[in-house]
Amino acid sequence: MSVHNSDAAAADWGLLIDGRWVDRHTRLEVRNPYTGELVGRIVTGTADDVGRAVEAACAALDHEFPVHARYTVLTRAADRVEASADEYAWTIAREGSKAIREARREPPRAATILRLAAEEARRMAGETLPFDLRVGSEHRVGYYVRVPAGVVGAITPFNDPLAMAAHKVAPALAAGNAVVLKPATATPFSALRLARDLVDAGLPAGRLNVVTGRGGEVGEALAADRRVRVLTFTGGVETGERLTRIAGIKKLAMELGSNSPVIVLPDAMLDRAVEASVAGAFAQAGQNCLGVQRLLVHEDVYDAFRDRFVAAVGALRAGASTDETTDVCAMIDETQAARVERWVREAVDRGARMLVGGPRDGALVPPTVLEQVPDGVALDCEEAYGPVVSLYRVPSLDAAIRRANAVAYGLHAAIFTERLRDAFEAARRLDVGAVIVNDSTDYRLDVMPFGGSKLSGIGREGIRFAMQETTETRVVCFNL
Ligand code: NAP
Repeated sequence: MSVHNSDAAAADWGLLIDGRWVDRHTRLEVRNPYTGELVGRIVTGTADDVGRAVEAACAALDHEFPVHARYTVLTRAADRVEASADEYAWTIAREGSKAIREARREPPRAATILRLAAEEARRMAGETLPFDLRVGSEHRVGYYVRVPAGVVGAITPFNDPLAMAAHKVAPALAAGNAVVLKPATATPFSALRLARDLVDAGLPAGRLNVVTGRGGEVGEALAADRRVRVLTFTGGVETGERLTRIAGIKKLAMELGSNSPVIVLPDAMLDRAVEASVAGAFAQAGQNCLGVQRLLVHEDVYDAFRDRFVAAVGALRAGASTDETTDVCAMIDETQAARVERWVREAVDRGARMLVGGPRDGALVPPTVLEQVPDGVALDCEEAYGPVVSLYRVPSLDAAIRRANAVAYGLHAAIFTERLRDAFEAARRLDVGAVIVNDSTDYRLDVMPFGGSKLSGIGREGIRFAMQETTETRVVCFNL
């Protein structure tokens, strides 16, 4: 096993409030879920800390932060992220549940998100309104503009710890808001580093505040605070539902879970479908909201697809996140791994056949493939969020679409076909936020409007769309 040592010293981080790093006596240790290695310690923030952070954010809004300054800060921060991409990648691999080869993709992505947000800040404009369309309004002129909503509360999950933080923070800052960020307790360090890079890039004090600590205390205090005008949350459905009840009257943006379906039709390029589906199902040990969970394969090509898919999954290497040869690393903790193990056992006890799989080793669940999964078991209808995928034999496109839609989620769906007519039918009928043709569900461009239908969420991320969620429209009307 090759382990990176240059950044191995466990780091201690404080809270970022009003441009200063604040220490507290109560700390939490963050350990690698597989090796148990101590990665660092964070402050266990409290509801009072959230209150102070929101206060600092409100105060920061009193000071001008013009578009040119936002542009400069965001692009400088992007430079800094790129310059320390390697340290970021090792932080991500060590703190969380991402193999180092996967973790290396996050810093360049975060830098791109920062740059795209900087550019979009320059384009945030309104338009004039034709008041003279109504008799009696001929002597009025006016326009509308997008204005910052104010304080944005952002809560991020563990799985893409840097990119998710960048997706929340960069558009909100670009739109002129002040942010209070609460990163996931299991993976806080890359978000904290990002905050440090933004501060070092010249972000005015209070524009970004970071309060680490338990979701139940810090997250709920942030959601409940009436001064927070937008709550943007990415995480599980259960937490999302709870937050909608706590939040009261404020704008809500929710990126929640899914159990994404991929349809494979008889005319599909099978090798391409297999390769993309394996990557889509097992990246980040399946802990990916876009991860492939249900493969709906037409009966004419089912056996051929299954044989190639099983062979490709069998070749994946499971191991430590810091090992350069690891394809599938441990899950975020043993509790989650035990849940996945239980769900697999439930499906097998009820008649599913395990084609690839094996015993769990702590938080490490080996890549698992099932077929003949009975309707209604957890793996069939809930979000597995682990390295498990189920194959379904379907008789037609219509049957595949019906099965794809027969769940409570609707984030991404995918279809492999060379027939335009079938691709368009899927695009029309699949009840999801995005239909991907000839790639797996695990495809996202950071400027795409990104989000889901049904329980998969409310609103859209993707720079410009996140800026819409974190701004209000203001009309100005002159009666001349
Ligand atoms: P989670 O348990 O819901 O946690 C997400 C965040 O919410 C963490 O920061 C967590 O803090 C916080 N939190 C937990 N309980 C809270 C509460 N009662 N009040 C306020 N905040 C609370 O989700 P996760 O396990 O980190 O992430 C997995 C889920 O995220 C999956 O369902 C996945 O599909 C979803 N996800 C969705 C997208 C998307 O864009 N649609 C992207 C990535 C992930 P602590 O860490 O302190 O518990």
